[in-house]
Amino acid sequence: MDEFELIRQYFSDLGQDSSGCVELGVGDDCAIVSPPAGQQLVFSIDTLVEGTHFLPGTPPQQIATRLLGATLSDLAAMGARPGFFTLALTLPESDPEWLAEFARPLAQMAERHGVRLVGGDTTKGPLTLTVQVHGWVDRGCALRRDGARPGDAIYVTGTLGDSRAGLESLLRNLPHDDDIAYLQRRFYAPEPRLATAQLLTGQASAAIDVSDGLLADLQHILTASHVGACIELDELPLSPALRRFAGEQKAIEWACSGGEDFEICFTLPPGHEEAVLDSLVHHEVPVWKVGEIRASSGLVVRNSAGEQAVSARGFNHFSEQTES
Ligand code: ADP
Ligand code: MG
Repeated sequence: MDEFELIRQYFSDLGQDSSGCVELGVGDDCAIVSPPAGQQLVFSIDTLVEGTHFLPGTPPQQIATRLLGATLSDLAAMGARPGFFTLALTLPESDPEWLAEFARPLAQMAERHGVRLVGGDTTKGPLTLTVQVHGWVDRGCALRRDGARPGDAIYVTGTLGDSRAGLESLLRNLPHDDDIAYLQRRFYAPEPRLATAQLLTGQASAAIDVSDGLLADLQHILTASHVGACIELDELPLSPALRRFAGEQKAIEWACSGGEDFEICFTLPPGHEEAVLDSLVHHEVPVWKVGEIRASSGLVVRNSAGEQAVSARGFNHFSEQTES
């Protein structure tokens, strides 16, 4: 199959243009998009390289859902609505079966989240996949990292640490049971928290998606906002599957420092907590208060044993204590 045939077959009609802004999609030299009135364009790009970001032989379905899930999560972190995306594929060969298995879940996910594939590039070489997503926010309403203030509450969506446990079970090639199936899904099919984060615009003072671990990502908010924070270890949301798989200590460690949860960490000024929690009462994704922004610089974690400073490189002291 040549490049044009391949594009036509798998990528010419993929996803959904929920914002109705795409004038011209795949097929011409460029795509054409008309920005909705009063909106700002936000965009982000992510690349997965075989051998670096996923193991050789990873099923194409899993690559597709991780790639688009991770990129859409960046839009979520800004409180943006998805609009359209482009896809750069570098493939060692044009394997129709691989492409079909890659395109199908990509299309399903793009439909579900209302984002349309409008173009891309296809080249031959070591397997590398890049997605650039574009979304819309009301002018001036994007959730940024630099607005957290002392006294703001720190919240997270969903549960933390599952993805790290899913990766662990893949690396150890553990036999499947219900818990492991759930944890692995959390690893390779992250659910971008788009709807939840959109409810936070105009309310949250800062937000970030958790891709490198809660403490590392929260640190980005603290740096950008020139503040410190305290995290309550006993308040971290842990799934029952993670608790059973890893035990309490390891679960807390992975909730703090495991990567790729793609939950949203956000801060709420005191006056906004009630309104946000009310708006989320019937929402499908739970949110949890896990700490507080402080005026003093630095990040500390706290449990019944006391407070402990987190170093710049993560939660080293804690992991040493609890390494099993
Ligand atoms: P050009 O040589 O003009 O850059 P290409 O031959 O690279 O064009 O691509 C032809 C059309 O197919 C363009 O509209 C481009 O956006 C689209 N396209 C190429 N590769 C992909 C891909 N992997 N996914 C989606 N669209 C693609
Ligand atoms: Mg051209």
